Amino acid sequence: MNYEIETKCVQSGYEPGNGDPRQIPIYQSTTFRYESSDEMGRLFDLEAEGYFYTRLQNPTNDLVAARICALEGGEAAMLTSSGQAANFFAVFNICEAGDHFISAGSIYGGTFNLFGVTMKKMGIECTFVDQTLPYEELCKYVKPNTKCVFGETLTNPTVNVLDLKKFAKLAHDHGVPLIVDNTFATPINLRPFEFGADIVTHSTTKYMDGHGSAVGGAIVDSGKFDWMAHKEKFPGLCTPDESYHGLIYAERFGKKAYITKATAQLMRDFGCIQSPQNAYYLNLGLESLAVRVRQHCKNAQKVAEYLKDHPKIAWVRYPGLKEDPEYAMARTYMPEGTCGVLCFGVKGSREDANRFMDALRLVTIETHVADSHTCLLHPASHTHRQLTDEQLREAGVAPDLIRFSCGLESAEDIIKDLDQALALV
Ligand SMILES: *Cc1c(COP(=O)(O)O)cnc(C)c1O
Repeated sequence: MNYEIETKCVQSGYEPGNGDPRQIPIYQSTTFRYESSDEMGRLFDLEAEGYFYTRLQNPTNDLVAARICALEGGEAAMLTSSGQAANFFAVFNICEAGDHFISAGSIYGGTFNLFGVTMKKMGIECTFVDQTLPYEELCKYVKPNTKCVFGETLTNPTVNVLDLKKFAKLAHDHGVPLIVDNTFATPINLRPFEFGADIVTHSTTKYMDGHGSAVGGAIVDSGKFDWMAHKEKFPGLCTPDESYHGLIYAERFGKKAYITKATAQLMRDFGCIQSPQNAYYLNLGLESLAVRVRQHCKNAQKVAEYLKDHPKIAWVRYPGLKEDPEYAMARTYMPEGTCGVLCFGVKGSREDANRFMDALRLVTIETHVADSHTCLLHPASHTHRQLTDEQLREAGVAPDLIRFSCGLESAEDIIKDLDQALALV
């Protein structure tokens, strides 16, 4: 049965049998018992499916991953300890020293650092591109050793909309997959596989958990990318893995090759697994994801409408606003709404912005987004405070940009709080 997204949030991935627990149980166990030495041996050869050690796989995690997989319409999925681990694994699973990949430049700061600094030390080169460039211009950045293209469906913190069809064409015309981070849009508002993305990642820390309680990540594979058709580019998937007696993932596991390799090889060696306890919290968040995301979007729409007409506000960016330059593109990919995050600038100096932020009572200053509590952050004073105004602009972050994440409170209360704080500027 192909259920609606609301039903999938609550029901998919886990079907309890007669007398089984109704809720996904927490398998709080590091190890699993087997009757014979031979059975255990077959697991280590990837000849049988099963659990042996929670550093690689745990049943709770797999049930929750299956739910996220169903929400995205994918073929296979896995949980990771964080969104950072998800993006690292997603790229490192197909890139090695000497390889190159292309990423949109306007992405989450943590991912920017991971790709531009840390992965560079591993011999993997990333070229950051302006995602608004036309297709022909983007093609100029592809090299013979390019192995994937990466972007965020809705960027953090600038809420730009990625033109998925353009990026999918860029990737596929050059024989590589498109990986997108779908954290802000969530599968409730956007399912990137429907527009040509091959692999989706999430920081489940954000809307999926949604309560600011558990750090986590996820990777979902559509199973659509034909690795064997581009064998020479992906030796890790298409040639024998010596650490598993020479098995070839793409041959043995077909549409599940990518996730199997990431689990069997990267989880085994790096161990960035989500704890089953956190996976349980994540699942509670998933059950109400559809209901919550709609409320987040409704609140953000009202707040954006309020701010755009306010005399003390210099500018507002929210792709749900009709006058937003990306409104039309947002409607194409996310006809039912975008996310609860918006950004704006307060007229005046950094001091004015600080006065405004300090005067807020309900809205809190936090290094977080996308949970039930309304919060804000001023990158120039917080996450990016080492940068000069010039460097900030280069990073695509205006010096006066305030990232505002609408929670699940009443929009009227959020607006009242903004109103009294802006009155003091
Ligand atoms: C927060 C975030 C990340 C990193 O996720 P963590 O769970 O904090 O490691 C990656 N991508 C986006 C879009 C994010 O918002």
